[in-house]
Amino acid sequence: MGCGGSAAAQPTDGEASPGVDRRRSAHVLPESTGVLGGATFAQAISDHFKDCYVDLSPVELECQTPLYSGLNDFLEKHPDDAQRLRHTQNIVKKCEAAGCLKANARTMIKCNACGSTLPETEGTSTNIFTSFIYGIGPFKISIRHASPDVMVLDDMMQVTPCHFDAIPTDHYIQDWRWLLNRPEDALLLIEKLKSRSETAMSSFWNNQAYMQKFINTDAHKLSLQDVTEHVAAGFNFPPSQYQLHLQYMLPPFTPFQYQMLIEGKGFVKGRFFPFKYVRSVLECSVKNGGANAIKVDSQTGIDTIMQHFDKLGVSYDEIYTEFYGNIVESHKKLANWQPEDFALRSKGEEMFQANSDTERGNVSSQ
Ligand SMILES: [Zn+2]
Repeated sequence: MGCGGSAAAQPTDGEASPGVDRRRSAHVLPESTGVLGGATFAQAISDHFKDCYVDLSPVELECQTPLYSGLNDFLEKHPDDAQRLRHTQNIVKKCEAAGCLKANARTMIKCNACGSTLPETEGTSTNIFTSFIYGIGPFKISIRHASPDVMVLDDMMQVTPCHFDAIPTDHYIQDWRWLLNRPEDALLLIEKLKSRSETAMSSFWNNQAYMQKFINTDAHKLSLQDVTEHVAAGFNFPPSQYQLHLQYMLPPFTPFQYQMLIEGKGFVKGRFFPFKYVRSVLECSVKNGGANAIKVDSQTGIDTIMQHFDKLGVSYDEIYTEFYGNIVESHKKLANWQPEDFALRSKGEEMFQANSDTERGNVSSQ
């Protein structure tokens, strides 16, 4: 991206363009996307997927055991540690819908799990990511990588079969805005989060059962390097957990999530910040001897940040739009959903048996 100089912003940089073009493919069977005749595959048959999990390695299994039985146990052992206590809490809006109760980011209006309207009052919730960092049980999830500086975990609400969160474990960083105060260090940090995620992803890409089930045969020949160009990666603001986490998603998206994407409902604009955008604003910040930088505190609005860098030639709109188009194409290229692996299809509010002729409009509602 252009940045900060007198020259007009370039629409794309020289590296990005070929990557985008390579994603276009005319040889994709439409049903493998998970949407057939406008109806989305639903109710996956779990038996059909049981052999394609990517198991944890023995080293990974070793770091799954918590050090504390729960938050109370942790607080009893660190009674005077106000900083740690603060790290273990999120400020949230809790969904009040029966059976949901999800803690949502404080600025959300509707619950991102069930769609219910959220209450106006804010509360606190346990910070899951810092719980993993400190080893507070009973939380458990597949930890794909753990080292003194980074952890890579399976996402709790996966939208693709290979969906991680990569978190720094040696710095508490509430959300990505704070990266702007130390852009040079931050560039190294986010690249590190990405490269550790790539390593974790490689154990999926090298797993035969995973590949056979989820990845279109035409894409099997892609090198690991090539496939990283299809990854959807970025940061949410506001986050639902107050610790910087890089969301790292290798398509395909689940059929339901793909349907959301093509309806324009995925990756909420203004809340999801593609990796490329965050990297671009950090790069912009370090140019001109730091004259482009912006000082961030807890009150700095995300719009202020976007406008600041927009004026310097880093356009959120442009990068977001490019990102969105790319991931839809990447999904089409990589997806390998098969109708026989799902019991139902859904179209709007209606549900059909998987063997109905929905693609010909000849649907038999059950
Ligand atoms: Zn809810």
